[in-house]
Amino acid sequence: TPKLTIKDLHVAIEEKEILKGVDLEINGGEIHAIMGPNGTGKSTLASALMGHPKYEVTKGSVILDGEDVLEMEVDERARAGLFLAMQYPSEIPGVTNSDFLRSAVNAKRGEGNEISIMKFIKQLDKKMAKLGMDESFAERYLNEGFSGGEKKRNEILQMMMLEPRIAILDEIDSGLDIDALKVVAESVNSMKSPEMGVLIITHYQRLLNYIQPDFVHVIMNGRIVKSGGPELAEKLEAEGYDWVKEELGIED
Ligand code: ADP
Ligand code: MG
Ligand code: MG
Repeated sequence: TPKLTIKDLHVAIEEKEILKGVDLEINGGEIHAIMGPNGTGKSTLASALMGHPKYEVTKGSVILDGEDVLEMEVDERARAGLFLAMQYPSEIPGVTNSDFLRSAVNAKRGEGNEISIMKFIKQLDKKMAKLGMDESFAERYLNEGFSGGEKKRNEILQMMMLEPRIAILDEIDSGLDIDALKVVAESVNSMKSPEMGVLIITHYQRLLNYIQPDFVHVIMNGRIVKSGGPELAEKLEAEGYDWVKEELGIED
């Protein structure tokens, strides 16, 4: 089963230190949620793990199944089984959704091991049906004119097609109405298996009503300052983040 180990991770953006020593271990079968106030470095963690060039790792280590992730290029990270559903997926003009997904699947499988078109379409149809997506969606241009909910469903579709070892879902609930939220959550729940670990990043507790995390972590000032079970998310929902700040003696 997969294992991602993050140790003392420090990340800077344009010389400014954002993450100041993050420690986290995610194993296959586990769902972890990271919560925290806006601007505390949640998305920075996701971007750094995926190797975004703007995010400079200045200290610490990230190991996936014994391999040094920080030594890998972005495409190697994807091939090793890391997946990021982004907070703001971008439009790529002229590329259909189906084309994009197939090249992502093939990039992951590697040269000489490409999936046959028939098999790909069969899988795609099945997974789109599961997500309640219309068939026409496959032939639409990537993200062009997609609604917020369609974009999110599409990210989950991508995850279902790629079958990552570690999935990082950054704010997948933002902009979703309750029905779309339920569909997205059910899909993530249905993928729960020892073969995949999940990191859910969210500002609000709402998503965690539908995807039950095994572990909840609070990030503040670039560090994980508190960890617990699902009850921690409930307490944050009810009481906000101030009590954590007080407990830690953090000033605004
Ligand atoms: P969160 O996801 O928790 O809301 P972020 O990780 O997006 O927080 O941001 C953490 C801090 O890093 C913020 O102060 C933000 O302004 C800064 N930051 C994030 N991305 C960039 C960027 N690309 N360029 C400059 N500053 C950034
Ligand atoms: Mg933010
Ligand atoms: Mg963010």
